[in-house]
Amino acid sequence: MNVETTDLAIIGAGPAGLAAACEARTLGLSVTVLDEQSAVGGQIYRNVVSAPRARSAILGPDYSAGAELVSAFASSGALHLDSAVVWNVATDGTIDYIREGRTRKLSGKYVLLASGAMERPFPIEGWTLPGVMGAGAAQILLKSAGALPREPVVLAGCGPLLYLLGWQYLRAGARIAALVDTTATSDYVRASRHLMGALRSWKELRKGLGLIAALRRSNIALYSGCSDLRAEGTCKVEALAFRQDGRSVRIPTSLLLVHQGVVPNTQLSWSVKAEHRWNKAQLCWEPVTDIWGRLGETALYVAGDSRSIVGAQASAVQGRLAALSIGNRLGVLPDITIRAAPYLESLKRYTAIRPFLDALYRPKDENRVPVSDKVVVCRCEEVTAGQIRRFVGLGCQGPNQTKAFGRCGMGPCQGRFCGLTVTETIARERQLEPADVGYYRIRPPIKPVLLGDFVE
Ligand SMILES: Cc1cc2nc3c(=O)[nH]c(=O)nc-3n(C[C@H](O)[C@H](O)[C@H](O)COP(=O)(O)OP(=O)(O)OC[C@H]3O[C@@H](n4cnc5c(N)ncnc54)[C@H](O)[C@@H]3O)c2cc1C
Repeated sequence: MNVETTDLAIIGAGPAGLAAACEARTLGLSVTVLDEQSAVGGQIYRNVVSAPRARSAILGPDYSAGAELVSAFASSGALHLDSAVVWNVATDGTIDYIREGRTRKLSGKYVLLASGAMERPFPIEGWTLPGVMGAGAAQILLKSAGALPREPVVLAGCGPLLYLLGWQYLRAGARIAALVDTTATSDYVRASRHLMGALRSWKELRKGLGLIAALRRSNIALYSGCSDLRAEGTCKVEALAFRQDGRSVRIPTSLLLVHQGVVPNTQLSWSVKAEHRWNKAQLCWEPVTDIWGRLGETALYVAGDSRSIVGAQASAVQGRLAALSIGNRLGVLPDITIRAAPYLESLKRYTAIRPFLDALYRPKDENRVPVSDKVVVCRCEEVTAGQIRRFVGLGCQGPNQTKAFGRCGMGPCQGRFCGLTVTETIARERQLEPADVGYYRIRPPIKPVLLGDFVE
């Protein structure tokens, strides 16, 4: 097989990947960016170049701002491989990907993993009913196709993306039957300890407050401090039931959009057996890197939300810092300190708000570890929380063993979607910390591939 080579291969064309590419090109490195999407932009700037003006206006200034980075990337001289699904990466910088129905190889002297975040699962009763979706998924439909719900929708959960979507739906004229917020008074108290630090990111803070104020001003029914969320229905969702201030509430709906934050997409870094740690503030796994994002003594770096949830601006800065470090290692930037200094400063500023956000929107235990045994955890193989708890009773020690006990995590998503829930469910059952029970052993292919893709 023909193997293309490049100085820097980047997996992911979101803010981290695009900024890294631009920075590396200024150092004269050859750069190839692969992304499974048909256009660059990642999650936040999805489709930003071709979105009609009216849609961009609905999505807001943070979205339109991405056009600048996308245009800098377009003129940077980096090669963009669109619709390229990476299914394997090795610590020496070799990448296997599928494009145009054929598997191909690319060898980078260095590789930047910038595969971003994914929505945290929301495993409550009824979450697998048709008509229950992630708010992020609904936003993808809005960004890529301008699609809006026809019927009144219920938004439930917590976190900036949930309020952002509510605000975007308001501007687009979509009808919101209710916003059911799980953030409780105790969350505000916990977060208040981090308020002073968050003031360094005052612009972000102001934006967030603006979104919430706009939602409060609208005539949407807002419920706060809600618990015991349950999607009800037989063949499809018919209502969201929950408790607020000691009373039961039931809101009929045919579309329930749930969200409780995003978590790093770590499948690639796990697949190379990199060390990961449990982030207690963000309740998720993150790869262990040096300050530039390098994974141990490998040819691999990680930047952006796939390293730790930091947001779009900090992701872009991390991408630039990784590119500088790679340039330094390749000998084209002998002194990294002067060039890196302003980026390290802005990284501090952009991430100052994180402890506040992590404390305020910490997803509730009952919405991460299913209370009811009936709740499906592994959607691909239809393994329930009750089954996982039974496996533990039979001697199952951690997520990897649930595969042998009941095919948990062995479906097309390769555990990407259920992994966190499985770790936390087992940890709770064994009365251990998530760090003590570990994660799935992730092996390539990390994305589904067809045998036909290997035919020359
Ligand atoms: C659904 C969703 C919607 C979001 N919307 C917003 C928003 O509107 N505003 C906001 O401020 N933040 C939003 N976020 C958070 C936002 O994603 C990040 O803060 C920011 O985009 C992170 O940038 P990144 O470059 O690290 O990753 P991303 O922007 O996520 O880019 C990662 C890219 O990697 C690609 N990729 C991943 N795996 C592979 C693979 N195996 N092969 C090939 N390509 C791959 C993906 O297609 C994606 O384009 C959203 C997050 C999610 C999950």
